[in-house]
Amino acid sequence: MSAHLDIDLGLLAANLARIRDTVAPARHMLVVKDDAYGHGLPAVVARAVSEGVSWFGTFDVATAIAVREAAGPDARILAWTVYDAAEIDAAADAGIDLGVGDAVLLEEVIARGVRARVHLKVDTGLHRNGVRPEDWHDAVERARAAQRAGAIEIAGVWSHIAEASDAEDDASRELFVQAAGAFEDGSVLRHLAASAASFARPGFRFDLVRIGAFAYGIRPESGPSDQELGIRPVAALVADVTGVSGDDVTIGVGYLDGLDSRLSGRLAVATPGGERALGEIGPTSSRVRSWPGAQVGDEVSVLGRGAPSSMTDAAELVGTIGEQVLLRLSPRLPRRYR
Ligand SMILES: *Cc1c(COP(=O)(O)O)cnc(C)c1O
Repeated sequence: MSAHLDIDLGLLAANLARIRDTVAPARHMLVVKDDAYGHGLPAVVARAVSEGVSWFGTFDVATAIAVREAAGPDARILAWTVYDAAEIDAAADAGIDLGVGDAVLLEEVIARGVRARVHLKVDTGLHRNGVRPEDWHDAVERARAAQRAGAIEIAGVWSHIAEASDAEDDASRELFVQAAGAFEDGSVLRHLAASAASFARPGFRFDLVRIGAFAYGIRPESGPSDQELGIRPVAALVADVTGVSGDDVTIGVGYLDGLDSRLSGRLAVATPGGERALGEIGPTSSRVRSWPGAQVGDEVSVLGRGAPSSMTDAAELVGTIGEQVLLRLSPRLPRRYR
C-alpha cells in the first residue's frame, strides 16, 4: 500500500466557521462517531476545540471518553447509546452526557444515583430507539422526580429525523415540538437536526444542531452542491505512483484498501499532468492513463479534496452515501495532517 488520507485541518476549521454562522444563534455539536468519519478522532477534536467547538457527539461511551481525553475538561460530550451500569458510571466519571431513549434505561441511570446528565430522546418516527410519544409524559415525570431527588440532571431533549423528505421531517418536528413543550422554561437544550436539515430548514435548529457530514465537507447525495452549501472536502485519498509502463501508470491503492472496485473506469483522478481516467481497480493497485514525465513517487489525488470527484460523487456512482465511501477506506491507510 502506497496511499494515504491527506486531511486538511484548515478546511475543517473553515467548514466549522461556516456551520457556526449558518446555524446561529443555535449552537453546534460536532459529531465524531466512526473515528470522526474516518478523519482521525484525536486530531479532529483537538482542532475543533481550538476553533471554539464546545459540544461533541458520539455513538458510544468509549468514544466519548476518547473525546474527553482529546478535548479537555470543558467540552460537553453526548454519547447517545449506553449499554450497562459500568458504562453509566464511567460516563458520569468522565462528565459525559447520556442519551436516554427508553424507560428501562432511564430507571437504570436513576438507580446508579451518579447524577448523570441525561438527554431524553423522544421517538419522532424513525423507530430507532426513543420514548414513544404516548409514553413521553410518564418518562418526563419520572425523570423530573429523579432530578428533584438528585439522582440525575435533565440536560436535554432530543430526537433524530430521517432528512429524506420534507413532509416526513415536518411530521417529526411536530411531535418533537409537542414533547419539548414539557420543558418550556428553557431549562434543557432541545436538539433535532443533523447536517441537511440544519442548513436547509431554520425551524429545525432549536438550541443545538448535531452536525457530522458537513463539518468534513461531505455533501448529501442528490442534494445541494459544495458551493451552494459553502463547505469543502477535508479529506483526500492520495496514492503514489508505484510503476510506469507504456500508456499506463500504476498507483498504490486498490479494493483491499477499500476503494470500491465498481468505480473502475468511472472516475477521473488528478495527476501532476492533469486529469486522467482511472482504469481498473485491482486488489492493491490501480491503473491510471499516463501523462508526460510520469514517474514513480508522483502523487495522484483519487477522491475528495483536489480530485475531480468528491466522496459523494463516487457514492452516487455506486448507490451509497459519501460517508460510506470514506469509511470503507481502510483504517490502515495512514492519516497525514496539514
Ligand atoms: C450521525 C448522526 C448525526 C450527524 O449526521 P450528519 O448527517 O452526518 O450531520 C446526528 N445525530 C445522530 C443521532 C447521528 O447518529
